[in-house]
Amino acid sequence: MGRQENNLEEIIYKHGLLNAAKHKNKANSGAVIGSIMSSEPDLRSQAKQISSKVGEIVGQINELSVDEFNNKLMEYGIVVEDKHEKKETGLQELPGNHKDIVMRFAPNPSGPLHIGHARSAVPNAEYVKRYGGKLILRIEDTDPKRIYEPAYEMIPEDLKWLGIEADEIVYQSDRFDIYYDYARQLIEKGAAYMCTCDGDSFREFKDNCQACPCRDNTVEENLELWDEFEDMVMLF
Ligand SMILES: [Zn+2]
Repeated sequence: MGRQENNLEEIIYKHGLLNAAKHKNKANSGAVIGSIMSSEPDLRSQAKQISSKVGEIVGQINELSVDEFNNKLMEYGIVVEDKHEKKETGLQELPGNHKDIVMRFAPNPSGPLHIGHARSAVPNAEYVKRYGGKLILRIEDTDPKRIYEPAYEMIPEDLKWLGIEADEIVYQSDRFDIYYDYARQLIEKGAAYMCTCDGDSFREFKDNCQACPCRDNTVEENLELWDEFEDMVMLF
């Protein structure tokens, strides 16, 4: 009989610890009784006995220091789930200020969207749904080799299928003047240079982690080359 009582106390203690672990280390007698009755049906016949002991045991648990409490958890083999870890499943909160956020999805118009695109488009769109703000669809069409004309229509259609409608569509090719303007500013600051190496030799420099000789151009030389380039581009 004595041994059995011991077991009963241990069972109550275990349920007390489980309950306390969920509520900042403080157990509640009613909740502990409920938990024992639902998970240990064999003990329902001893409900009275259990009820008479729970108050005292819960009192003991609620008196434990944090260290003592953690030791008891270990002793009873109780693993507490980390609430923070649980929170991080799904779309994580973005750091910083979320007011008027702007997200963008920027595909090449080289064909219909595929699963990789969806993986990028959906989270961006979901953040806009969560925080407000806007979603920009930017069509990256400055490389003629990667343009498939029907894709200009397919992309917004495919997005719609995913439940995504962009607030604004930007075509990169409409913005060459802006890019040229910034490129010139970078050259004037000495932050960019014009490279006239052919592709093969440039690749060789790059693969050997070496700067190409054009890097030593003066700002004036670079600007001259830039002007030539712009004149040439304007012919097309
Ligand atoms: Zn070069």
